[in-house]
Amino acid sequence: MTRTSPNSFQQLEKLGEGTYATVFKGRNTKTGELVALKEIALDTEEGTPSTAIREISLMKELHHENILRLHDVIHSENRLMLVFEYMDKDLKRYMDTNGGQLEPSVIKSFANQLVCGIAFCHENRILHRDLKPQNLLVNHKGQLKLADFGLARAFGIPVNTFSNEVVTLWYRAPDVLLGSRSYSTSIDIWSIGCIIAEMSMGRALFPGSNNEDQLQKIFRVMGTPCETSWRGVSRLPEYRADFPLYVEQDLWGLMPSMEERGMELVRAMLRLQPEMRISAVDALNYSWFTNGELCGGEVRAIFARAMEGQRGW
Ligand code: AMP
Repeated sequence: MTRTSPNSFQQLEKLGEGTYATVFKGRNTKTGELVALKEIALDTEEGTPSTAIREISLMKELHHENILRLHDVIHSENRLMLVFEYMDKDLKRYMDTNGGQLEPSVIKSFANQLVCGIAFCHENRILHRDLKPQNLLVNHKGQLKLADFGLARAFGIPVNTFSNEVVTLWYRAPDVLLGSRSYSTSIDIWSIGCIIAEMSMGRALFPGSNNEDQLQKIFRVMGTPCETSWRGVSRLPEYRADFPLYVEQDLWGLMPSMEERGMELVRAMLRLQPEMRISAVDALNYSWFTNGELCGGEVRAIFARAMEGQRGW
């Protein structure tokens, strides 16, 4: 545990509210470096959540260019303050300010960085479990980093955020929605497929309002699973033999501006049966990423133009 005191940081404006905490912009008073301060109020009745703290401290060891750097964990009596590197905005806000749909070269670059980050985590046997545009952070250089790692594991995936917003189900894998408890890396791959689709569509692919509606929205596009298409599905706790029957639609019809090779990858990620989903390492070797430039002049020019238009973002 670090000995940095909370006084080492000047708290600036509020950046947002997440699932577990309020996030403030901050400045390291010694170095002047900008940081994001995430304050988690601890349930005093339950005492120090030592497993949660251990879990979070492990995140400090995760060093990768596509993982948000956790600089410090400061534990005081009734709160935990996590000190992260500062980023300009989250992907949801970035999409909102760009009118929803992103340009193909930006989609490909963000998708690649997302897969690189998650491949690194999966190699280190860490699952994210709650990937969504709100916890992917981007900066004016066009870099994308995964945030909120390990928090789902440390605190569990709650039903409501601490500010009482309902936690989104839009990126949750069908096996999880059907009550499967054998979580694996494939749950993150499903979320990434949904996020890549959203960058191209300009709106969420499966915007469900509750567990049942979420499953329906998925089945309406991907087809209703049965024992022939997904062996073992009928044994999952939330499976019902009377699910409405839908046939699979062509995903490309929903995102016609998606590049063909990108579309192939999204299809490989959005397989209902978890074992059929592509792994992060295999996704990195997909032709969409291995052919052509990834974060070349075109992407840099797009971010440079955005910077000129909105000083400091
Ligand atoms: P989170 O709890 O990570 O979901 O954070 C809530 C919101 O705070 C995010 O959606 C971002 O808008 C903002 N935020 C979180 N971390 C950072 C960061 N490192 N830099 C800038 N903004 C952040």
